[in-house]
Amino acid sequence: MLNLILLGPPGAGKGTQALAIAGSLGLHRLSTGDLLRRHIRRESQLGAQARVFYDKGEYVPDCLVVAMVKEEITSFLPENGMVLDGFPRTVAQAEALERMLTEIGKRIDTVIEIDSDTEEIVRRAEGRRVCPEGHTYHMVKNPPRSGGRCDVDGLPLQQRVDDQPDTVRKRITVYHERTKPLLTYYAAKGLIQRVDGTQSIEEVTESIQHVLSNVGVR
Ligand SMILES: [Zn+2]
Repeated sequence: MLNLILLGPPGAGKGTQALAIAGSLGLHRLSTGDLLRRHIRRESQLGAQARVFYDKGEYVPDCLVVAMVKEEITSFLPENGMVLDGFPRTVAQAEALERMLTEIGKRIDTVIEIDSDTEEIVRRAEGRRVCPEGHTYHMVKNPPRSGGRCDVDGLPLQQRVDDQPDTVRKRITVYHERTKPLLTYYAAKGLIQRVDGTQSIEEVTESIQHVLSNVGVR
């Protein structure tokens, strides 16, 4: 059992790493970005409420995101554990997460922060493409095998509005402002581990695996 949180500025490769780590360790990947989009697409009650904020590019309120995560965690009890990607974003969310995990006898084992610099992220974001299921590619560093389609499910790949340079810079600023208290929160618990996100995708994955082996899990 290993429950791990991946933190890092938007575009630092968190999604890619979450998939890689979840795949190699057999963990459930819980991405709040995907979770949100899925709720919105299915027009669930939570999705309809979230859509108002999501469509404006605003942060969806804590209570909605927490409700979605709670539903996911309690209905999909992952045996090996999970990788959380995009959650928690705030101390309030972190506290809510701790409460819901405690209720089911689980806990967070480690928090990995993928460090990167803004211009590197901007460069990466410009080449980034995602499929509707959340599989992520880079047209230079990690291109799909067949043109504009996902290797896993054949769905068409798209550039998200989120990946355009101005949007990226703005979101990184917001990320640092909002995440500082969260880093302090987990640092106080001795859970933070840092990984250099400017390395290649494979090197970042290796660094994360190295960190996890040092943490004493697997
Ligand atoms: Zn896909």
